[in-house]
Amino acid sequence: MELVNLKDSSEVVSFSQAVKQGLGRNQGLFFPTSLPKLDNVDALLEMPFQQRSAYILNTLIGDEFGEETVTEMVNNAFQFTAPLAHVADNVYSLELYHGPTLAFKDFGARFMAQCLAQVTGDNPVTILTATSGDTGAAVAHAFHGLDNIQVVILYPKGMVSVLQEKQFSTLGDNIHSVEIEGAFDDCQALVKQAFDDEQIKTELHLNSANSINIARLMAQVCYYFEAVAQLPAEKRAEAVISVPSGNFGNLAAAMIAKVMGLPIKRFIASTNVNDTVPRYLLSGLWEPKKTVATISNAMDISSPNNWPRIEAMFEQGLVDKALLTAESVDEDYTQIGVRQLNDLGYLSEPHAAVAYKALKRTLADDETGIFLGTAHPAKFKETVENILGTPVALPKALSDVANKELLSDSLPADFDALKSYMFTTLKA
Ligand SMILES: *Cc1c(COP(=O)(O)O)cnc(C)c1O
Repeated sequence: MELVNLKDSSEVVSFSQAVKQGLGRNQGLFFPTSLPKLDNVDALLEMPFQQRSAYILNTLIGDEFGEETVTEMVNNAFQFTAPLAHVADNVYSLELYHGPTLAFKDFGARFMAQCLAQVTGDNPVTILTATSGDTGAAVAHAFHGLDNIQVVILYPKGMVSVLQEKQFSTLGDNIHSVEIEGAFDDCQALVKQAFDDEQIKTELHLNSANSINIARLMAQVCYYFEAVAQLPAEKRAEAVISVPSGNFGNLAAAMIAKVMGLPIKRFIASTNVNDTVPRYLLSGLWEPKKTVATISNAMDISSPNNWPRIEAMFEQGLVDKALLTAESVDEDYTQIGVRQLNDLGYLSEPHAAVAYKALKRTLADDETGIFLGTAHPAKFKETVENILGTPVALPKALSDVANKELLSDSLPADFDALKSYMFTTLKA
């Protein structure tokens, strides 16, 4: 697989290099120079999830690692399912929260850990990542206890849920969590600055586990095939997918799945009131505003990292721009969404509810709607309990961390402060 830097087309790298580097020169994202078209989609849809995913990832990247290795990586990473729940008539929920940290980030983070193990071998690596809530947990879990890998997780102070914070801030060992006095966009900007710092890059062997790392997106392509595979055969051609979006990695992966031949009729980019993309699609102007804290906090992002990848697919004629609409759902409607789903007998949480409300706004009767359940409802226990007035039980993965002590450090949103923290903590 060959990838090009979207900001500097003279930088062309292999998949291994892209995984190792994370970002290209000038903070440019890597994107495949071409995407393979699968000619056996119907047969693929009949396969079990792991086997199909190994086939897809082999087709995308197999030549560098070899078929056997990729298959083993997939089997190690994807040890949980992605069930499609039937919610109402023509509406389904793709539940992506059955992994160890109960959010879809487990798919990408665990596959990325497998890739990184392949490409770095025994060399030391520092992973620096920003989280709006769920990446931190998935990455911390995927890399905890691994030799030669140090992980630094930046998160916005007071803007992640209590349980999310517990999931990535109580492990210790090689996992260092740092609350930043700022919003997620500040955390993300610090990560990008670190990638521009030659000293950090070379002395600490910097890598990122954010969705800027192409390994994560490649993994996420697989569960869109799994979603369509679980639809009744006669409904497959009319699937409309609503993706609750923050950094837009998940939507980028959905579009890659379509380019590879998965039948998806159209896409809905669902956001909360942090609506840079919905406004952009209407006006053509990219005008991020100050990030607002919402109950769907993993989407409290106003400068989405992965948008250039989506734009690239439009520009290269891979995806018709008309197939994407965007909807911003405010806090009241998010709560209404959680309640409506509950009335349908389906327990959800704010991110899924945003995607559900956005889907319902435009779904036609002859279409089949799939919204993504990106996190387990219990991850947002307090919010969901407040909305529904009924208790939400904690699964074991969460009750285990609920009473553990937080081990986070605290820093201002300042690059020099972060740099000196990293050298003191990681070089020790
Ligand atoms: C990360 C996250 C999102 C946003 O996904 P992107 O790929 O960043 O758009 C949505 N919901 C939940 C629960 C998340 O953790």
